[in-house]
Parts: sequence; C-alpha cells; structure tokens
Amino acid sequence: MDSLWTIIAGGADGQIIEMLSSYILPVTINIMKSLKCDACEFEAQGEDFEAWFEAMHAHYVSDHADLMKAMEGKPKEEGEKWMADAKARFDAA
Ligand SMILES: [Zn+2]
Repeated sequence: MDSLWTIIAGGADGQIIEMLSSYILPVTINIMKSLKCDACEFEAQGEDFEAWFEAMHAHYVSDHADLMKAMEGKPKEEGEKWMADAKARFDAA
C-alpha cells in the first residue's frame, strides 16, 4: 500500500490533496485565524478576512437570519461600519 506521502507527492488524486490542504495545512502552517461571531459563541475561521467573512456570512445566514433581516433595512454606512469593525477584530486576532 502506498504511504500517504507517496499519494500526496505523486499527486495521485487531486481530491485527496484538496482534502488534506483544507484539513491539515491550516493546522500545520498556522495561517488560519479564528474569530468569534459577535452575536454568539460560534467561531469562524479563515486565512484572510475575505475567507473569514465568507464563513461568517454563511453562519449568519443559517443561524442569525433575524439579524441579517434587521441589517437589510439599515443604512449602508452601518453595514460598512460593521465590516470595518469586523476587519479590525480580525486583524487583531
Ligand atoms: Zn453567531
């Protein structure tokens, strides 16, 4: 049986590499940041703000639909302020 490394190095299966890079690489190369949701204990992760925001947005859609709805009616500046605050929190994490 091929060792895991042979499979990785040989590029036998692109899916395996993709799977490993999403599960192992963030742990071994510590480039992922974790930041808690501002409304609950959920922690979203991302290697940069965009990736983190994408995860947080998905979380908001599924868990905080009410907050999303409340945000919809608010002026654009509030959304921008939220983004700026979130980015500041992310950069500081
Ligand atoms: Zn939350």
